Amino acid sequence: MNYTELAPAYIRAIAPYQPGKPIAELERELGISGIVKLASNENPLGVSPAAVAAMQEAIKTIALYPDGNGFELKDALVKRYGVTHANVTLGNGSNDLLELAARAFLQLGDKVVYSDHAFAVYALATQAVGATGISVKATADYGHDLPAMLDAAKSGKVKMVFIANPNNPTGTFLSPDELLTFLRGLPPEMLVVLDEAYNEYLPEDKRYDSVSWLKEFPNLIISRTFSKAYGLAGLRVGYALAHTEVTDMMNRVRQPFNVNSVAQAAAVAVLHDADFVKKTFELNQRGMLQITDGLTKLGLKYIPSFGNFVAFRIGNATAMYRRLLELGVIVRPIANYEMPDWLRVSIGLETENAKFLSALKQAIGERK
Ligand SMILES: *Cc1c(COP(=O)(O)O)cnc(C)c1O
Repeated sequence: MNYTELAPAYIRAIAPYQPGKPIAELERELGISGIVKLASNENPLGVSPAAVAAMQEAIKTIALYPDGNGFELKDALVKRYGVTHANVTLGNGSNDLLELAARAFLQLGDKVVYSDHAFAVYALATQAVGATGISVKATADYGHDLPAMLDAAKSGKVKMVFIANPNNPTGTFLSPDELLTFLRGLPPEMLVVLDEAYNEYLPEDKRYDSVSWLKEFPNLIISRTFSKAYGLAGLRVGYALAHTEVTDMMNRVRQPFNVNSVAQAAAVAVLHDADFVKKTFELNQRGMLQITDGLTKLGLKYIPSFGNFVAFRIGNATAMYRRLLELGVIVRPIANYEMPDWLRVSIGLETENAKFLSALKQAIGERK
């Protein structure tokens, strides 16, 4: 018998998530070292020393179950954002929160709106519960077309909308005015998951206070992560802020101990490590300029990005990706985002960015 047939058709239809290639895997395949991974939007500064110290302490008690309510971490978030504990859901990465939102509110036959080229997990979370995704055509510059998404949301049976700001893999940004117009136009019985995984990377003049919108929009779920600017991708921890009733439902479908104790301790520590986050931000600003300047010099078009990565257009993207691997640089193909002629590179340390640019220059030279 074919065991895949035991799974519902909507599960069988799911295309598996394609993660960035791990450094160790490429090392095994090519027998080379000194590999630079700029494929998963990780923090090139690594982990905050304050988080390391907190983890060392937390390790002493890992024989015990974690605090299933994550009191300390929620408390730190509550103080930072001026919400209450009843507005916070903790997740095993913010990926978990996207799934909790889907699992708590969607059922077979419900519809969900997201944008073309939007983060892949929106479709995965939607399909996993038997709901149907409506992917709305992006704007000419690869951004979310919010007016078109609003129309799609009103087309019937839609219960949830996913918005990434900035979006991954395109790096596109929606202004607070655009977002507010969308939220005001949306019927209150439709939930909006506003995924702000790259929020900490926004330049000062682009920052906005989405948390204050929760008062006006009880249908808003804001998700954030410790994986990107906070440098804890391997630990898996994120949080969602939402109305108490929405939060209550998300917590009912959550695994009781979904965030481990070491992750909780590290997240509290890094949340208070303003210096680390500032250094991360500044490094990213410089690295973004370095890489976009380099791309321009190579005559390549890129999408202006507000995250810690940038998508650039290149002919033969798959072959280029493979050649870059051979040259010791891992970037991310995004053909699965309907962008087959593009690659996405994460912003790294200055030396890593330089290695990427010189490998890219070499690969382009060889092609001519
Ligand atoms: C990386 C990313 C996430 C989630 O990452 P986690 O590690 O699960 O927190 C969520 N949304 C977007 C748009 C991302 O790029």
